[in-house]
Amino acid sequence: MDKNIIYVDHAATTYVKPEVFEKMKPYFTELFGNPSSIYALGRESRKAVENARSEIAFCLGAHPTEIYFTASGTEADNWAIKGAAYANIKKGRHLITSAIEHHAVLHCFGFLEKEGFEVTYLPVDEKGFVNPDDLKKAIKPDTTLVSIMFANNEIGTIQPIKELAAIAREKGVLFHTDAVQAMGNIDVKVNDLGVDLLSMSAHKFYGPKGVGALYIRKGVRINNFMHGGAQERNKRAGTENVAGVIGMAAALKFAYENLEEYNRHLRKLSDRLIDSVMERIPYVRLNGDREKRLPGNVNLSFQFIEGESLLLMLDMKGIQASSGSACTSGSLDPSHVLLAIGLSHETAHGSLRITFGERNTEEEVDYIVENLVEIVGKLRQMSPLYEDFVRKSGK
Ligand SMILES: *Cc1c(COP(=O)(O)O)cnc(C)c1O
Repeated sequence: MDKNIIYVDHAATTYVKPEVFEKMKPYFTELFGNPSSIYALGRESRKAVENARSEIAFCLGAHPTEIYFTASGTEADNWAIKGAAYANIKKGRHLITSAIEHHAVLHCFGFLEKEGFEVTYLPVDEKGFVNPDDLKKAIKPDTTLVSIMFANNEIGTIQPIKELAAIAREKGVLFHTDAVQAMGNIDVKVNDLGVDLLSMSAHKFYGPKGVGALYIRKGVRINNFMHGGAQERNKRAGTENVAGVIGMAAALKFAYENLEEYNRHLRKLSDRLIDSVMERIPYVRLNGDREKRLPGNVNLSFQFIEGESLLLMLDMKGIQASSGSACTSGSLDPSHVLLAIGLSHETAHGSLRITFGERNTEEEVDYIVENLVEIVGKLRQMSPLYEDFVRKSGK
């Protein structure tokens, strides 16, 4: 990457770690056999895929036969939600999720509503937390699935998943969590959490794009999503992304071995950014909870300015960040997450998401702060909203 570029959008995607890429390489060029082929070259690929499955299962505290490879986090979410909804249609058509899910989850439920399912969208409080009592009250006799994300991709809020999953389990309702942002940041263990279905995606934890996995607890039946060959024990057809799953396993293994150190590094950078911005820039708020948030996530709303202008001006200084969520950029609608935590459209529009990664440094944080002070000041000088505010408050 260009040395002059400061990449602080790791929630959108990460680079592939060089060590991870080295492990993947032979499976593109030399060891290219189809894992379903029975000759030596095929068996070699099969062995590598099963080894990757075991490594991922070990990280999660799951059994290898509970791990199914997919082509993305989005596919894992779609499969879990639609697969569980249709598999249990005789029991009922009521499903529960939260208002702040990623679009990969939210739009699945939108689709299912059109298909005749009933969906309850649990609200969140001003920090982005789902209230377990709300979940308790929402479960009905015909509820078949609850899907609540582990950690939010925009504001970093980490949900009390163990408590929420226990409520669903007690009522005999399946529990899915989109753990795409949590993986690599949190020591996720499926049995400790008590979840039935869990989605992940490699490109959010220094693995390659285009590969993910769905954990399906033993005994849980969901409908197939892909139809075709007998891959993934007849549940997910399609020739395995051999290099991809090897990369995903290597990246996850590395992440689990370095969780504490990684968390400490990211937390140091985030705290430095939050503290400096709060000290030096007025009329700014931190979105999400100060403590129970992803260690590398900082989401700020600057009053009186447009997040898009802020982003463009940061980009001119070599700083690559995000406004709200990568999935909503390009559209003018304010983020559904920021609205759900109670922000006005105006405040939501002035938001900036910075997500740190392992290569970021304290010097970079200081450079970002200097530029934020300057750019926010400039934009406010040009803002009619700010002018209005200053006139009214007599400042
Ligand atoms: C990135 C992301 C996804 C989608 O994963 P892809 O592999 O990019 O399809 C789903 N959920 C969350 C929370 C994410 O951050």
